[in-house]
Amino acid sequence: MITLKNVSKYYYNKGIIASGFTKVNLKLNLGEFVAITGESGSGKSTLLNVISGLDTYEEGEMYVDNNETSHYTEVDFEKYRKKYISNIFQNFNLINSYTVRQNIELVLLFNGEYGKSVRDKTLDLIKKVGLTKYKNTKVSKLSGGQKQRVAIARALAKDTPIIIADEPTGSLDSRSAKGILSLLHDLSHDKLVIVVTHNYEQIAPYVTRKITMHDGRILEDKRLVVVDKVNYSNNNLNKSITLFNQFRIGFRNTFNIFPKFLLVLMVYLFIVFAVTSVDAFFKKQEYETVKTEGYNQFFTDVNDTRLIVKKSDKSLFTDDDYSFISSMKHVGVLEKNDLLLDINTFLSDYENLYFSGISKDISNFKGKVVIGRMPGADNEILLVGPRDDDYLDDIKDSIIDLNVALGIDGANETDKKYKIVGIAYADDDEMNALYTNGNDGYIYGSSKMIEELQFKMNEYYSELQVFFNNQYHDSSLLGSNYRIVPTDRVLEGGAFVTDEWNINCKNNNCLNEPMTILVKNLYYEDKIDVKVSNIYTSKNMNSLLGVSDYDQFTGAIYINRNDYNKLFSHGNYQSSVFVDDVRNVDKVASNLEKNGYSVLKIRDTMATIDVVQILKIVRTMVLVVLVMALFFISYFVIRIILKSRNVYFGIIRILGASKNNAKTLLQIELLTVSNLAYILFMFLIYLHRNKIVTIDFLNTIIRYFTTKEYVILYVVITVMSYLISVRFARKIFKNSAMNTMREEV
Ligand code: ADP
Ligand code: MG
Repeated sequence: MITLKNVSKYYYNKGIIASGFTKVNLKLNLGEFVAITGESGSGKSTLLNVISGLDTYEEGEMYVDNNETSHYTEVDFEKYRKKYISNIFQNFNLINSYTVRQNIELVLLFNGEYGKSVRDKTLDLIKKVGLTKYKNTKVSKLSGGQKQRVAIARALAKDTPIIIADEPTGSLDSRSAKGILSLLHDLSHDKLVIVVTHNYEQIAPYVTRKITMHDGRILEDKRLVVVDKVNYSNNNLNKSITLFNQFRIGFRNTFNIFPKFLLVLMVYLFIVFAVTSVDAFFKKQEYETVKTEGYNQFFTDVNDTRLIVKKSDKSLFTDDDYSFISSMKHVGVLEKNDLLLDINTFLSDYENLYFSGISKDISNFKGKVVIGRMPGADNEILLVGPRDDDYLDDIKDSIIDLNVALGIDGANETDKKYKIVGIAYADDDEMNALYTNGNDGYIYGSSKMIEELQFKMNEYYSELQVFFNNQYHDSSLLGSNYRIVPTDRVLEGGAFVTDEWNINCKNNNCLNEPMTILVKNLYYEDKIDVKVSNIYTSKNMNSLLGVSDYDQFTGAIYINRNDYNKLFSHGNYQSSVFVDDVRNVDKVASNLEKNGYSVLKIRDTMATIDVVQILKIVRTMVLVVLVMALFFISYFVIRIILKSRNVYFGIIRILGASKNNAKTLLQIELLTVSNLAYILFMFLIYLHRNKIVTIDFLNTIIRYFTTKEYVILYVVITVMSYLISVRFARKIFKNSAMNTMREEV
C-alpha cells in the first residue's frame, strides 16, 4: 500500500537545517496495526506527517499503491489525503463549537454525501463509539476520552484505508487510553492503522508490527503477527461537497459562535454607516451651496420639488388632466396656472402697502392663518410672508380689510381691487424657494383671481397683429401702433377705426371691410375676425366711444369686450406639480412623461457653480479613500475576530476539504453577515420612514440618498466582503495545512 525508499525529511529553519528523519525504508500494508515508538524528537511525528501527505519530503521516494509521489503537487496531495488518510491527533483537533454530531457529519458532507444517508451514518458511528447520549453536546464540553472517541468516529466516517494516529492517548488517563486503543482496533480490522505511542504496554495487545525509531532512523522493525492479505473495499465516493451543504455549513459557521457573529456584524454596520453618513454630509453641503448660491434666470419659484408640466401635444389642460395629475402618487400640490409662479404680481394701496410676490390658488394653501381669516369670496386674498420680516410685522394689523390693486406690471389704478382678509407666515423652505430678489412672499386668492391674473399676463406678454386689406400691421397693447382697446360701445364682431384707415380701402371707405386680429405668445397663436362697423374722427370720437384721446396715425382699434377677451382668456397650457418629497421627483416626472406630458424639473435648471463641482470631486475622493481605509481596517478587525477560523480551516483541510471549499465557506460566511448588515440598515430606514421609530441621525442619510446610491452601497459592501474573504483565505492557505495547525496549536 505505502512504500518508502530511502526517504529523508529536513527542516529549514532560519538558515539551520534540522533533520526530521533520514533514509527511511518501509513497506506498510492493509490489515496491519503498526505501533511506532521511540524517544521524543526521534522523528515519529515527522514520519507520520509525510505518510499523511501533510508534509513534503526532500529525498527518496514514497509510493502509494505503486505510484510515485515525488512529483505530487499540493492539489495531488489534497486528493491523496482525501482518498487514503484519516488522522487522529493527540490534541483531538475537533471543532469545539460544533456538536458531536456536527463534527462527524462534516466529514461525510465533504465526501460529497447528502440527505438521509448522512444522518443515518452519523448516528450509526456515534453509536459505535458509544456516545449516543452526547450526540447533540458541544465537543468542548466532553472529557478527553470522549473527545478521542469522536475523533475515531470521524476517522471512520471518512472511510479511508489508512488511519494515522499520533499519540492518540497522550493526553488521556490510562483507563480511557485502553478503551480508545481497543475501540480503534475493533473498528479497523481491514485497514492499515499506524499509531505512534510513548506507552507501548498499552497498545501491545493489538499490535501486529512494532517499529522503533531513534535519532531520525528506524532502529528496529518487528513483525509480531503474520497478516493475511486484505482487500479493502473503499465506499468513499470521493466526490465533492454539494453546494447546498456548503451553504449549510457556511451558515452554521456564521451563527455558531454568536458573540463573534455580532462583532463581525458591527464591523459591517460601521462600514455602512460610515460610508452613508460621509456621503450624506457632502451631499448636504452641495445641496445647500446650490440653494444659497446657485442661480436661475428664468424661474422665480425654484423649489426643488417643482415640475413644470406641459402636454406633449401642446394642447390645453382640461379638467380631466387636472384630476388625473392630482390623483397621481407623490403629487403634493398641483398649481394649475404655472405662469404666475415665475412672475411677480404686485399689490398696493398707493399709500403704505407695496407688496410683490407669487400668486397661488388658496385651495393649495397648507399653512395656518395668523391674523384675520381665510379668504372666502373671490375678491379676498391672504398675504404670506416670512415670520421675521419687520416690514410685514409692522403693518400687519393695519392692512387687514384693506382694498388693494393687484397687477402684473405693477399695481395700477385700473387694476381690479382685492381685499386683504388674512396674513400667514411662510416657513424658511418656502421663502428660500423664491429665488428672485424683491419677493416679499406669496399672495393667495381664489381660482377666479388666478384666472384674472393669467389673463393679464397673456395680455401683457402677447404680440398682436392686424391683418387688413391684404396687409399686416404690427400692433400692440402698449406700443404706439394701433392699440386694440376693449369697449362696450362696439357690438360683437365689429370694430371702430380712425378715418386714417380709409386711404387703404376701395372708394376711400373702409366701412364693412373685414379685419383679422392675430394674437401670439409663448404658448398659443389665435385670431378673431371682425368687420369695420364704424369710422371715428377726432370730432365724433367722444360721442361714439366716450373717450377723447384721438390720434389719427396710431389710433386705437376699438372692439367689443367679449371679442377682446377671446384673445387672452385662452385656458391653460402649463401647470406646475410640487412633489411631496425631493426623492420622488424623478419618479413622478417619468410617470407624467409616460402619460403624455412633457416635464421640466426645476432642480435641473439650477446653474451649478464651481464650488459645487469642487465639492463633488472632494466627495468622490474622500469616499474612495474612506472605502479603502475601511477595507483594511475591517480586514484586520475581522481577521482578529475570526482568528480561531485558522484552526477550523486547518482541520477541515485535514478532513478532506479542498482549498476552494474552504474559501467558499469563508465567502458564504462573510457575505451572509454583510447582507444581514445591509438588510438591518434598510430595515432601520424603513422603520424611520414609517415613523415607527425616529432616529435623527438617519434624517440626513434618507434625505440625500438616492436609489442608485443604495445599490452602489450594496455593491461596495458585497465586493468588500468578497475581497476580505479572498485575502483572508490566501493568508490561511499560504501555509500548508500542517503549518496552519502548528502555528495555532
Ligand atoms: P517525535 O514526534 O518523535 O517527538 P518529531 O518528528 O516531532 O519527533 O521531530 C523530529 C525532529 O525534527 C526533531 O529534532 C525536531 O526538533 C525536528 N522538528 C520537528 N518539527 C520541526 C519543525 N517544524 N521545524 C524544525 N524542526 C522540526
Ligand atoms: Mg511527536
